Amino acid sequence: MIAQHFINGVWSDAGDRIAVEDPGTAEAIGEVVLADPGCVDAAVAAADACVRRGELTRPRPAHRLSLMLEMAAAIRAVTEEGAEILCRESGKPLRDARGEFEEAARYFEYYGGMADKLEGRSIPLGEDYIDWTMREPHGVSAHIVPWNFPVGIAARSLAAGLAAGNCVVLKSPEVTPLGLCVLVKALASTDLPAGAINLISGDGPTTGEALVRHPLVQHIVFTGSVPTGRAILRAAAERIVPCVMELGGKSAAVVHDDADIDTVVASVESGVFFNAGQVCSAMARLIVHESLHDRLAEAIAARAEALEIGHGLEDPDLSALISATQLERVEQHCAGALADGATVVTGGKRVTRPGYFMQPTVFTDVAPSMPVANDEIFGPAVSLMQFRDPAQAIALANGTDYGLVAGVFGQDLNRTLDTARQLEAGQVFVNEWFAGGVETPFGGIGQSGYGREKGLEALDNHLRTRNIAVRLTR
Ligand code: NAD
Repeated sequence: MIAQHFINGVWSDAGDRIAVEDPGTAEAIGEVVLADPGCVDAAVAAADACVRRGELTRPRPAHRLSLMLEMAAAIRAVTEEGAEILCRESGKPLRDARGEFEEAARYFEYYGGMADKLEGRSIPLGEDYIDWTMREPHGVSAHIVPWNFPVGIAARSLAAGLAAGNCVVLKSPEVTPLGLCVLVKALASTDLPAGAINLISGDGPTTGEALVRHPLVQHIVFTGSVPTGRAILRAAAERIVPCVMELGGKSAAVVHDDADIDTVVASVESGVFFNAGQVCSAMARLIVHESLHDRLAEAIAARAEALEIGHGLEDPDLSALISATQLERVEQHCAGALADGATVVTGGKRVTRPGYFMQPTVFTDVAPSMPVANDEIFGPAVSLMQFRDPAQAIALANGTDYGLVAGVFGQDLNRTLDTARQLEAGQVFVNEWFAGGVETPFGGIGQSGYGREKGLEALDNHLRTRNIAVRLTR
């Protein structure tokens, strides 16, 4: 398969290509066409022309609602085809790839249902005036997505952006561009106007930079790493372009002494090992009451050692990392933690088999100053730290520059909720990591970024307010 550009309603494979690899075998499975600045320009011009024709905004908003429901149905129809391709290019288990397409369909249903409810306000200014607000789209919106959940993340901003009436240029990640082509083909099989969604791929320095610096781009939604987020914000600052920044994390769960161990272990399995730990909101740190620490470390290590490792198509418990580079990075983090004095309870090494597999890894004796307690590892590893009193737990949990998500486990409702209130993060999970869904706002504070995706709050990012004040003459 070749990941082509989709510009102004037309697929094209003009441009240089690089291979797309299956990280579960390290073999090439396809190619991606790289967008040069001319191609980026064509994509933005197509989106801009669609904005000017008003094809999304002139008809009654109920038209966008039905278009988006049509899109949701089209996504559901390609779920099996798309999931297999996404599974192979990303390495993730087939069930999770399927889940990403199902989630994508949900975004289109959820935000489609809002397309005809984006109402303004009437503001009283006395009898001589009539004043109201209108919620309008920005125009051309650039969406840049990372490789770890390319379909789900693209769908969440595409759906909210489209419901608001924006036209989009989507840049797919160069390592996982194939599943997104299946998604966009499904969207394009509906009555989508030409230019309303354009898809390009390519690397950051060439394609990404040309996109965020393009003079017709009026809004940017970025999901990715902190350094790239900073570079994009610098570019956006030149033209004062509003941005949404969904960046990294080093999230912590606080485990109180009355937590149910089985519940915590089940959450560790999803929080740490889902997508081989390549998740911005992974449970990277576990801050455990000293009375439970040893028992919990043992239980987590036992669960980690029982995980079945395999190729994504076999639907394993633990799948491959995205690339040789990522595997090396994770191994280096683990070696660094050992050198710093952390204890490896289990794992810490690569798995000897074709592809890029890392052992599930559990660290104890992690001090807050160690890089393993602060840096995003993006691999299947968790660091356990101990606390004696709740204030110490909060200080440890809030002790990094990030603030994407956090969690708390315990039975005492007062204490658990008190902890939830004090954790510095955009969302807090109580007694289940990843609780929530398409409907619940997601986004960070601190170095994890700003703006919210998912939930109704996401629509605020994709809209701007115009106030109209009328002086009545009598
Ligand atoms: P990355 O920052 O390297 O790349 C993300 C995207 O930005 C890619 O499409 C890349 O091509 C593009 N890019 C790179 N340089 C660019 C530039 N100068 N201008 C414009 N675009 C540029 O991130 P990644 O390695 O793909 O993804 C992993 C990171 O993403 C992790 O830090 C993870 O925490 C974060 N992430 C965050 C969320 C969230 O919702 N908060 C979700 C998933 C991943």
